[in-house]
Amino acid sequence: MAEVNISGAQKAYGALNVLHGVDIEIRDGEFVVLVGPSGCGKSTLLRMVAGLESITGGSISIGGKVVNNLPPKDRDIAMVFQSYALYPHKTVAENMIFALRLRKQPADVIKQRLQAAAETLDLVPYLNRYPRQLSGGQRQRVAMGRAIVRSPQVFLFDEPLSNLDAKLRVQMRKEIKELHQRLKTTTIYVTHDQVEAMTMADKIVVMQGGNVEQIGTPLELYDRPGNTFVATFIGSPS
Ligand code: ADP
Ligand code: MG
Repeated sequence: MAEVNISGAQKAYGALNVLHGVDIEIRDGEFVVLVGPSGCGKSTLLRMVAGLESITGGSISIGGKVVNNLPPKDRDIAMVFQSYALYPHKTVAENMIFALRLRKQPADVIKQRLQAAAETLDLVPYLNRYPRQLSGGQRQRVAMGRAIVRSPQVFLFDEPLSNLDAKLRVQMRKEIKELHQRLKTTTIYVTHDQVEAMTMADKIVVMQGGNVEQIGTPLELYDRPGNTFVATFIGSPS
């Protein structure tokens, strides 16, 4: 686990400024949800924490260490995307341990971590199947398993449930929260769905147009929205 500090973070794609100096302090073990309309810069910010995008100004630190210039592989993070990006020709087990193999972990460590993650995610019966033989929810669990086996300091989720139907989405929200309660890994979770944000977050960051509008607990945002945008966004049905 680690705290994450985002300080004055800016991002420009050429002449297009998409983040205008974002400040977010995330405590050790906190579950923080970034929420805001499509195009406001959520994925860009998350990808900057992951090291998949460069940072144009400001700084990002993980566990007290500035990571601005660290490549993704040297950041102790694991990211779960909306498109699961599983390897179709690898089994569930192979998909889950691939990153560990790349990092040259010893075989007994790999085996033990795979077993623990599979039990946590109810994937034990499916370890020898292929992604096409799984349901959407099971695939999403494999994608999470791939993140969990690495025991990262920080989990990053980018709209992980968008491809699932409404019923499964509600179920997976619960599972992700239970997982967090068990592992207590610092988590940054991106969604454009305010209901998801309100039900999952310890702390919500409301973004609009590359700026942070307000940061607070779900209750604080609901009771005391800082401006009309937050009030309208949080209060509108999804
Ligand atoms: P969100 O995840 O909140 O929907 P994004 O972070 O994906 O928003 O995008 C923020 C803005 O940056 C949008 O205007 C988008 O078009 C732009 N953008 C994102 N990625 C790139 C890129 N690689 N090159 C140029 N513009 C980009
Ligand atoms: Mg996005």
